[in-house]
Amino acid sequence: MTEVAFSCSCGTLKGVLHEVSPATGCHLLCYCKDCRAFARHMGRIDDLEPGGGCPLVQVLPARIEITDGEDQIACLRLSPKGLHRWYARCCNTPLANTVGSSRMPLAGMWRPLFAQTDPFGPVATLGFTKAALPGGPRRDKGLGRMLGGLLKRTLAAYLNGTARQSPFFDAFGAPVSPPLVLDQTQRAAAYVE
Ligand SMILES: [Zn+2]
Ligand SMILES: [Zn+2]
Repeated sequence: MTEVAFSCSCGTLKGVLHEVSPATGCHLLCYCKDCRAFARHMGRIDDLEPGGGCPLVQVLPARIEITDGEDQIACLRLSPKGLHRWYARCCNTPLANTVGSSRMPLAGMWRPLFAQTDPFGPVATLGFTKAALPGGPRRDKGLGRMLGGLLKRTLAAYLNGTARQSPFFDAFGAPVSPPLVLDQTQRAAAYVE
């Protein structure tokens, strides 16, 4: 098991992801329009893979340790029902996507945060490829493996009591930074392809 350091672009927010291996996370590319809209809103469209795939690593939130710049954590939602999309406000670097509750121990971390990506293994899952842009893959891949891993990790986290630990939610399960929902104009601009 390896530890992998991560950092926002400007270096104010830093952290370490613990217990990294191809089995303890899921290295994926998500081609959905929402992930792309978030990247666009953050000015990070150039970080996407060909065809508009968002590079993510799904991990247990308890394995994410923020060591510097915790106060830079901010959150937005593309719509009132959208995922919580966390970012570093110092330089608008995406950090991770989560659902709106710490009960679901899952974070999709933004892979460009990591200088070193070998410990994640090769990309195992391609999701939402129907929404890929020209030049992207046409078929989803590895979704069963992704869900299997997710269930296994969730169960293990509940059994060992770490399920609700997260740098994004406090001990009461409230977001550490209140999510702002994009307004109509921001949303329209984020989704222009
Ligand atoms: Zn920064
Ligand atoms: Zn997505």
